Amino acid sequence: MIKYKPVYTVTVSGDTLGYVNEKSELDQKLTEYINHREGTIALIDIANMPEYSFELISRNTKLNEKKIFEEIKDTAVITYKTYAITVNGEQMDEVNTRIEAESIISNLQSDLKEGVEFDLGIVEIFRNEKIDTSKDTAFENLNGLKLAKTEEYEAEQARLEAERIAAEKAAAEEAARQEAARQAALYAQSKAAAEATSYGSGNISGINLSYPLRVSPLITSRFGEYGSRRYVHTGVDLATSLGTAIYPIASGTVVFAGWQGSYGNLIQIDHGDGVQSWYGHCNEIYVSVGEEVTPDTCIGAVGSTGNSTGPHLHLEIRINGNAVNPQNYLY
Ligand SMILES: [Zn+2]
Repeated sequence: MIKYKPVYTVTVSGDTLGYVNEKSELDQKLTEYINHREGTIALIDIANMPEYSFELISRNTKLNEKKIFEEIKDTAVITYKTYAITVNGEQMDEVNTRIEAESIISNLQSDLKEGVEFDLGIVEIFRNEKIDTSKDTAFENLNGLKLAKTEEYEAEQARLEAERIAAEKAAAEEAARQEAARQAALYAQSKAAAEATSYGSGNISGINLSYPLRVSPLITSRFGEYGSRRYVHTGVDLATSLGTAIYPIASGTVVFAGWQGSYGNLIQIDHGDGVQSWYGHCNEIYVSVGEEVTPDTCIGAVGSTGNSTGPHLHLEIRINGNAVNPQNYLY
């Protein structure tokens, strides 16, 4: 009777785990286990593989290949790999595969508003525990973040636009203030000049006269001149910018306000005692026939209507129907 049988003793790190018939069989099973990686498993590592020594043992001793395999398998360290999507460099939700991550990114980028800071990337995450990931949840979370960032961006744009409009309005107001100041200064200047040269200080038949413009005009044609005309000039031409306000030279009643041939838009004011003043080539007329006016009533705006080559006020003074030289009274 043979009492002994030949086997291989299996030891791992000096510990005897048992006996096997064939050493290649256990090695092959362990190699298959290490190489068979499912799902998110990136690596299976068995630090200490078995060592074998040939022995003769009692025929009654049981072999335990299966148990040895399980025992060694339990020492394996498993590493799982997932893919985290990054937003502006910060790690966010994870998914199982690169393809899932790329599909989420291309979805998120497809309708991303220009200017929104939402830079997407992928990083591989390795860990020794298995985690649950969901592509749908990851997309929902990231899409929510994208919408929030878009809203934030739009609010910021709206705020900047409001700021820009406010700045523009402030600039326009400042420009208007400066223009008003400039006009007031010009008016003060022209008034001072008028006073110095007895502008508007004249009178006709005891009617005090004031200057019809509150800016200093350029006298482009004087009373009595012919220039290019076929007839003598019956007034004085005061050139100034289009739209400049016109004021009556004295209180009175509007007796004509409308179109009259070469005068263009004409205003005639009767001051009583046979004295009238006429304002020709107006761009706008602000008064109507019968209206009582004073030297502070803005009656029209300087224009170039009728027979005119540029914006100016044709001022005419009539005494008993005859045109007189306004500069005899106003300049
Ligand atoms: Zn004229």
